[in-house]
Amino acid sequence: MIVRKNMAELEKMRAAGLLVYKVLDRLKTMVREGISTYELEVEAEKMITEAGARPAFKGYSTPATGTKFPFVLCTSVNDEIVHGMPSQKRILKAGDIVSIDTGVQLNGYYGDSAITVPVGEISEETKRLLEVTRESLELAIEKARPGNRLFDICGTVERHVTANGFTVVREFVGHGIGTKMHEEPQIPNYIDRKNENPRLKEGMVLAIEPMVNAGKPGSRVKPDKWTAVTEDGRNSAHFEHTVAITSNGPWVLTRP
Ligand code: MG
Ligand code: MG
Repeated sequence: MIVRKNMAELEKMRAAGLLVYKVLDRLKTMVREGISTYELEVEAEKMITEAGARPAFKGYSTPATGTKFPFVLCTSVNDEIVHGMPSQKRILKAGDIVSIDTGVQLNGYYGDSAITVPVGEISEETKRLLEVTRESLELAIEKARPGNRLFDICGTVERHVTANGFTVVREFVGHGIGTKMHEEPQIPNYIDRKNENPRLKEGMVLAIEPMVNAGKPGSRVKPDKWTAVTEDGRNSAHFEHTVAITSNGPWVLTRP
């Protein structure tokens, strides 16, 4: 069942969403050659706890992993798609891209967002990968309106990505969000005809998150049970927003 939220609940989700935005906006300015992904982690944890919120990723586990994720951020560099772990040993260098994904729980409600940030000068192809991924998210957000259907979102991402010569990751998906970080529905970045195609209604809140590979769509999970990487070793980009469906259209909760 897809849980719909009333305006009072959406306002709480807005507060959580804005905190996630502030954290990512700050981390974006810290990304440069020579910084470790762990330094980003430390800053994020400080900001989230000082705001009276709980870092939603820290301690999170799934049946597939069986272990608790130990960090506030997922930092996924280059061929890492999602769920990379911050590390003092992972020093960013010029030409890298780093996906920073985080979530918070504030007053019982979750916010979840991700950005992919270039480190110094990056290649033209990688610039285009980031642009196309971000555009696919924006185009999908535009479909988050009452009366549309879930496949309008999924298909919009898939079409924009493939029209630009890139591929969507199939093993990881977006999700409904609210009093739980992961609620129904699952939101693949392609049309999965095995899934249902519910009509979108006012009060639904969706975390839409295209994960886009420069090369082939295949992924595998590293022995740490979390870090997902591209099978072909080429770069992957990831952008995400938490979006409420309202009678006035999409309300992106994770940006001002
Ligand atoms: Mg996320
Ligand atoms: Mg998410």
